[in-house]
Amino acid sequence: MSRGPRRASGAPEANGGEGVAGAAPGTVSGNKGLEIEEALIFEQGDPALSGVDLEAPPEFADRLGGCGRTDAIGLPGLSEPQVVRHFTRLSSKNYAIDAGFFPLGSCTMKHNPRLNEATARLPGFAGLHPLQPLSTVQGALELMDALAHWLKVLTGLPAVTLAPAAGAQGELCGMMVIRAAHDAAGNRGGAARTRVLVPESAHGTNPATAATCGYSVDPVAGDARGRADLAALKEKLGPDVAALMITNPNTCGLFEGDIVAMAEACHDAGAYVYCDGANFNAIMGKARPADLGIDVMHFNLHKTFSTPHGGGGPGSGPVAMTEALAAHAPLPWLVAGADGFALQETAEGDAAASIGRLKAFHGQFGMFVRAYTYMLSHGGDGLTQVSEDAVLAANYMLATLSDSLSAAYPGPCMHECLFDDEAFRAHGVSTLDFAKALIDEGFHPTTIYFPLVVHGAMLLEPTETEPKAELDRFIAAVKGLMERLKAGQAERFKTAPHLAPRRRLDETQAARHPVLRYRADAAPGEAAE
Ligand SMILES: *Cc1c(COP(=O)(O)O)cnc(C)c1O
Repeated sequence: MSRGPRRASGAPEANGGEGVAGAAPGTVSGNKGLEIEEALIFEQGDPALSGVDLEAPPEFADRLGGCGRTDAIGLPGLSEPQVVRHFTRLSSKNYAIDAGFFPLGSCTMKHNPRLNEATARLPGFAGLHPLQPLSTVQGALELMDALAHWLKVLTGLPAVTLAPAAGAQGELCGMMVIRAAHDAAGNRGGAARTRVLVPESAHGTNPATAATCGYSVDPVAGDARGRADLAALKEKLGPDVAALMITNPNTCGLFEGDIVAMAEACHDAGAYVYCDGANFNAIMGKARPADLGIDVMHFNLHKTFSTPHGGGGPGSGPVAMTEALAAHAPLPWLVAGADGFALQETAEGDAAASIGRLKAFHGQFGMFVRAYTYMLSHGGDGLTQVSEDAVLAANYMLATLSDSLSAAYPGPCMHECLFDDEAFRAHGVSTLDFAKALIDEGFHPTTIYFPLVVHGAMLLEPTETEPKAELDRFIAAVKGLMERLKAGQAERFKTAPHLAPRRRLDETQAARHPVLRYRADAAPGEAAE
């Protein structure tokens, strides 16, 4: 949200910047060292200027049938270097995993190996067209088959679909498959299965998915240790329960240790167990979901197998499932035959019970190449070590920060650690204030106010790719900030960040009422910031 009057075109504010949009430090230009303060590109240049010098076209017959533009197009007239500089400067204002530590919990912001990018750009992969004849894309299909094979081995589940475009679509896929299985079985037990049980420690997309599939969502309470309560779950089970949707490890960064007993109870009641596997980075190569009683689970290739958001591409949410559910898997099916790979693209024959198509063509192929490259470059033993190192890093953070911050639950944790706001709330500082202060210290904030079960939560996931020295730098910053609070410097936190290109933004306004189109006459405060 912008509070002051709209800036004059191209004229940055050269004041102290306190409380207004800019944070200029009192220089005459409004710039901060080499950080340039500049107007929007539409506010720069002059529409009358043009970087292109073309002769006026000769007389020609207008074939637009009256649809031709009658007023000026209004694009700013700028030279190529002006445009290049503008966007280069803008890009450097955005934080990225390649710029520094990104401790966002539940996101697995690990380094993107450049090898993945090199393989994804190989012309034989990057230049494919999804409508090419199958005989010309056998290598690509083989890669998909090999990737699915690794996912089967890692889960112990016999069937994998690569179609879903992200984790949340993987959930949708899994729950549609469960629904199809119940429908096909005539809703075993006679009663219609209308309820899905979702522990309070599950990710927010889980209840949203169940509701999207037409189920009513019944929450399962957690215990004092941050896990779903087995007795509470058993009490809620009944002939109308379609499934349990559980995130394991859960959003508190803890392993649901009663998962096997929970799965048994669900299966006895005729319900399936859906596991949100976005946190697989904690257990990869250590525990197989099939052995835990899980019927269906999605992966986030773009978390566990690198290329997190901001990593230069879309996501991918493959789903692994039991033999019993595989008949309902979405199209297309990859079928290995004597003449190579073929695709079953219609709900006929063996695929008659499929839920149909979820996604155009075959899913996010570029992500398959990246994930498979990641797997091959680590090997099976390497993937196991990834999980071990990720859990070790998170426990190092939990142990070293527990005397400064207030740990939500006693450790050890899995791949992420969770704090509540008790330590700084005592000084009148909120989780948001603390997160903003971290920006001034040069760190991307942790995930905040998630999970909801913990007051003022700060969820911190270091991943295995951060060197210990980097973790120590972050730990020192957090401890230093807590020292400042104890020294009575709470006020500075409430107005942080002080050093970012923009001060505190109205994030609710930006999320609820984003202004996505530039209008020269927009009223002050109408824009998102
Ligand atoms: C990230 C995440 C999701 C959603 O995945 P998207 O790819 O963002 O749709 C679901 N569950 C958990 C636990 C996650 O961390």
